[in-house]
Amino acid sequence: MVAISRSTAVAPRLAASSAPATLREGAHGSSVVTLQKKLKSAGFDPGAADGSFGPKTLAAVKAFQKARGLAADGVVGPKTWSALNSATAPKPSTGASSGGSGPTLSLGARGEPVKALQNRLNALGFNVGAADGDFGQKTLAAVKAFQKARGLTADGVVGPKTWDKLGIKVQTPSTPSGGGRAVNGYVNGVARQITVSPIAGGKELRSDAAAAFNRMHAAARAAGINLTVNSAFRTMEQQRALYQAYLNGTGNLAAKPGYSNHQGGIALDINVGATSSATYRWLAANASRFGFARTVPSEPWHWEYRP
Ligand SMILES: [Zn+2]
Repeated sequence: MVAISRSTAVAPRLAASSAPATLREGAHGSSVVTLQKKLKSAGFDPGAADGSFGPKTLAAVKAFQKARGLAADGVVGPKTWSALNSATAPKPSTGASSGGSGPTLSLGARGEPVKALQNRLNALGFNVGAADGDFGQKTLAAVKAFQKARGLTADGVVGPKTWDKLGIKVQTPSTPSGGGRAVNGYVNGVARQITVSPIAGGKELRSDAAAAFNRMHAAARAAGINLTVNSAFRTMEQQRALYQAYLNGTGNLAAKPGYSNHQGGIALDINVGATSSATYRWLAANASRFGFARTVPSEPWHWEYRP
């Protein structure tokens, strides 16, 4: 019963003894089991938790130390123990769950929530490199490793369950007034500069549509519906690629480059599933309140901002 339980019941026992012993390669015993379990839940594979500090545990300790900016000497002293404890401790003041939340993020997302995700992954020992706010391949790999280490489906999409395990609360971005990014959009074949802003999930819409979408996203979330967006504003390059796929018979119907309302920043494809889904039904009942309407009869996922 010298438990590695993370429940609060173990706290008095821990308080009685001071810091755990310093461990190095060749060590054996229950404190090595503790070390191995902590490494594992921090996402570093020490091999079996067999209480024997061998080469695999050594490699995991060194990798963990390196990820945490500690001297990678493979010796588990007070600093490494403390880093391991903070990497694996449940967040205070949240019951059974670690209680994190945030907007759904996936490959290609950008912005502050991505930066917060990256900082958290780095702090937990899942190296994403620089926290640049850009959800690229390195972040994707770190998310998948994190999900795997925490027993989640390793799909690389940061949804409610993954946020929960990450244990931080990140706000869905709201459109800053007067903010946004000037881009080359197209409306009815005519190039036109438009201003786009991030939406929940990290994609972008024309700023007024983005603000409306973020309000809708928050309302949906309050109703237990998570709106995820597969496509929003598209550049000319992206539209060309989709149109080519359509011509090749490998993609959905796509408008001619320059003529998609995605290029005007007002159209978005929402992951609705079937029209019988809770998500679709919520949209059908509520989207108009936020200025969104369906405009393509054959595409239940395609919505446009038409206030
Ligand atoms: Zn669309």
